[in-house]
Amino acid sequence: MNRVIRSTQWRRLVLSSLVLALLIVPSVALAQSDSSPGLEPGAHVTYEQRVPINLVFVGYDQGDFNMNDLKDWLPDGYAPIVRYPAFYGVAGRDMGLQFDFKYNITWANNSFENDFFDYLGSIATPGPMTDFQALYNDQASNVLDVTDPVGYIDAPSTEQWLMSNAHRLDVETGMGYTIFFINWYGRPDFQFHIYTKTDYLDPDTGYNFGEARASRKIIAWGGSHGRTWFYDLSAGPEAWTDNWAVDFPDLDGNGEEDYRMPPIWEYTAGGYRDPAALGQDLGLVTRLVAINLLFTPSPLYDPLVSSPAPDGRKVVHVEMFESDAGRREVGTDYLDLDFVQNELSALQPYFEWATAEDLNRPPDIQARRTLGIFSDRLSRHGCWEQFGTTFAQMFCHFDANYGNYVSGYPAGDYVASVFSYHVTERRLGSQWGLLGFADDNWVDGTPSYVFAFGAQEYRDLGYGFSDTTVHEVGHHTGLSHPHDGYDSEMGVDYGPADFTYFAWAGDESDSIMSYLGLTGRFGVFNQDNMNRYQFAGYLNWANQVLAGVVAHPDADTVQAYVDAADAAAMTAQDAFNNWEYGAAAMYAREAYEQIARAAMELGISTERVVPMRVITPTGTPPKEGDPIRFPDN
Ligand SMILES: [Zn+2]
Repeated sequence: MNRVIRSTQWRRLVLSSLVLALLIVPSVALAQSDSSPGLEPGAHVTYEQRVPINLVFVGYDQGDFNMNDLKDWLPDGYAPIVRYPAFYGVAGRDMGLQFDFKYNITWANNSFENDFFDYLGSIATPGPMTDFQALYNDQASNVLDVTDPVGYIDAPSTEQWLMSNAHRLDVETGMGYTIFFINWYGRPDFQFHIYTKTDYLDPDTGYNFGEARASRKIIAWGGSHGRTWFYDLSAGPEAWTDNWAVDFPDLDGNGEEDYRMPPIWEYTAGGYRDPAALGQDLGLVTRLVAINLLFTPSPLYDPLVSSPAPDGRKVVHVEMFESDAGRREVGTDYLDLDFVQNELSALQPYFEWATAEDLNRPPDIQARRTLGIFSDRLSRHGCWEQFGTTFAQMFCHFDANYGNYVSGYPAGDYVASVFSYHVTERRLGSQWGLLGFADDNWVDGTPSYVFAFGAQEYRDLGYGFSDTTVHEVGHHTGLSHPHDGYDSEMGVDYGPADFTYFAWAGDESDSIMSYLGLTGRFGVFNQDNMNRYQFAGYLNWANQVLAGVVAHPDADTVQAYVDAADAAAMTAQDAFNNWEYGAAAMYAREAYEQIARAAMELGISTERVVPMRVITPTGTPPKEGDPIRFPDN
């Protein structure tokens, strides 16, 4: 049985038309609203939500581009999938979510624009142009030269100003997502500018990427304060989307253009881009960056896999292998478990999180050999051979010997195991530059173990173990990067390469899943999405287990649990409808826990009902970790 829960707007409409009737019926009728029906034994429910997407143009004039070219790219909706199983050609768990978009297009009025650009001017700190603006000037075909001084503008402050002034344009930023397309160029008060975020220090190294690196001076930002993201093609040019490079369309030499949006002044006759392409380009950014990667993205892994049993904890257990014997300090000196626990607890506060570390100094011979094989320094037989690549050696070794490293946790805990090597450049061999990866089980895209690497040479570049650990456990619990993802209507998975090279722009958002290193937290977009995944997942899981409970001859003995679960489910559904996703996730988890307790009392399994999978892999999953981008800057 499939059921669709309708959106808030629908419910509001019904409720307002019933307002007269409600005056004469008992208030309990409210709790029986169709949009919060509680649990439904055995049903797989798709929770549908109407999602307003506001496109606000600030500094653009109507007529600067053809709005229909933009609209042609806008999807009607989005149904998230679990991405990794799809790489094997198998369907992941049905996420039970469907978003239906309603687009609102707003042109900022003069008063708003004057105030906004005044504000930008007032917070801009003058400085010399960045290396990448200078590189742009050095291009042969650039249409103008950036001139000093350049304004350095705090990105989160800009985000906040736009969000808190949106009401002046009748744009509602709370229950919906908003993109501000900014264009300062052409106004008399224009100055060359770039955005910054400089308030985050790496917890292990104290390194400030936002301050120190020209490659971290950006043109877009959002997700620090709310559900908004701004994108300014009159800023930069910048490094991260390589839009300074206007002489050579093909950046990696593979014969395909690496499609990127140049600075706004390059949309001109003789510029890098045909001015007629502007509408299409803003549509591409709306769909393939903002919607697919930030607002309603698909998870990399099934977030329910890392679910503890009722009363169980989520544990991050780090096995640190000390392979830099020449040093007094060890890898665990650059792993801040309080930071790891705090950030993950902030993402999923409805779990009890715990962390632990175990220092292997020196590593056992098998762990050392595994590193040697993985880094292609040792040519040896190993368990990797059945997978055909030495990249599998980490997974298969630690999978086969798991109990030798991680043990002693109660059965109800979910343990995310992180195998970390503190190494040297020489010992990392062919994998030099790799920070970590969240591997799957090499069968069907189920998350398995996390691997992380650290070295003095990495620390010299700003990287310790803590950020990497949070990032990789973020993957393990489900989250994708903000620079790769899935397009629901086209059924296409993509990353920042070739025609979708501009997807790098998604990294310019508040998320530790970004490669920019500008934040240690899971921002608003991560929180919204994780909470919605958990909400729909736990309610459907509870529905599955509940079917067994109600069919049991002693079902009446656990009725109190079922009633409590039902109440929690209704509260969760109300919260979901009101865009209070944190509460929605928390109460959905509570509903599941109550049903699971009832099931355990009756001796019924609480295992997730896994859809029948015929393992006939049709694709080769990408096996690549998280590298250091821009090691030189
Ligand atoms: Zn990653």
